[in-house]
Amino acid sequence: MDLLGLFPDEIKVWLKSQNIAVFRGDQIFSWLHKHAVEEFGDMTNLPADLISKLQETFGSARPLHLVTSRVSMDGTEKFLFSLRDEATIEAVLIPEDDRQTLCISTQVGCAMGCSFCATGRSGYVRNLSAGEIVAQVLWVENRLKKQRLGISNIVYMGMGEPLANYDAVLRSVRLLNHPKGLNLGARRLTISTCGLVPQIKALATENVQINLAVSLHAVTDAERSEIMPVNKRYPLSELLEACDDYTSQTGRRISYEYALIRGFNDNVEHAQKLRDLLRGRLCHVNLIPINPVGAEKRPSAKSIAEFAQVLEGGRIPVSVRKERGTDIEAACGQLRQIHLQE
Ligand code: SF4
Repeated sequence: MDLLGLFPDEIKVWLKSQNIAVFRGDQIFSWLHKHAVEEFGDMTNLPADLISKLQETFGSARPLHLVTSRVSMDGTEKFLFSLRDEATIEAVLIPEDDRQTLCISTQVGCAMGCSFCATGRSGYVRNLSAGEIVAQVLWVENRLKKQRLGISNIVYMGMGEPLANYDAVLRSVRLLNHPKGLNLGARRLTISTCGLVPQIKALATENVQINLAVSLHAVTDAERSEIMPVNKRYPLSELLEACDDYTSQTGRRISYEYALIRGFNDNVEHAQKLRDLLRGRLCHVNLIPINPVGAEKRPSAKSIAEFAQVLEGGRIPVSVRKERGTDIEAACGQLRQIHLQE
């Protein structure tokens, strides 16, 4: 059992089964999630015998520990964590003047096989539990607390396809959102997907106010299938239909992610097609000059600007993601791959 993945009422069920006063459930949850403690021994208002019971039953308060971290010249910090079974995952902290954004993983590896992604190239190992997802946040929150800072935004954009681990991801959202825990507003959380249509449809009915980011990366089925095998299962027309369904049910704007790869999807005709595809949709486009892990090349600053201008001309809100952490193997899965090779 993973204590970090349990809600207060579920902790109370366990306490009751152990003949321990159930009011301790709220205290334990609050120590774990609100105060982000590292050890059961840090839960100072619990009796010693309960702390021993927790240690005996659950081992440690957190299901992960830090293996290594790297700090970029621009302040971006990448963490490699080891889980109880020694599988490794990455998280990335992106500090800015007004916010601390943490990018977290949802799976060990990924089965989606996107050609431009280091994680996709390394294959799928397993899903993370809700506790393992939340643990990344709490570990970093605990570190930031010492600098009198706190995590302000979370993006589910690290290793793995979040919607392929749907139940654990949704549970982690609700745990992070819990008023007795970190109480992070759902609007501060962004879930990204490469385009799993049934899960996008399911998410529309969940009544969570999270942001949804959909990785588009190409404007024709042929080009998208070339770099994202998921497109063969859920082609663009089906994906956009599910996205429309999502916006009409939730009233939430979707962020479409578009990785610009020089000579592949970055010319003016691509921009025009993207503009025509998204015209009239409640959306925002995030252009991401590729962080190469293989033979791909970043487009020039000029072609990135031209691409953005075409979208702006079509009144499609657009932003270009700032390059961060290129000196620390910032592309998803790169640090883990180096660690595995070592
Ligand atoms: S880009 Fe995302 S969905 Fe695609 S292989 Fe990488 S981790 Fe998986």
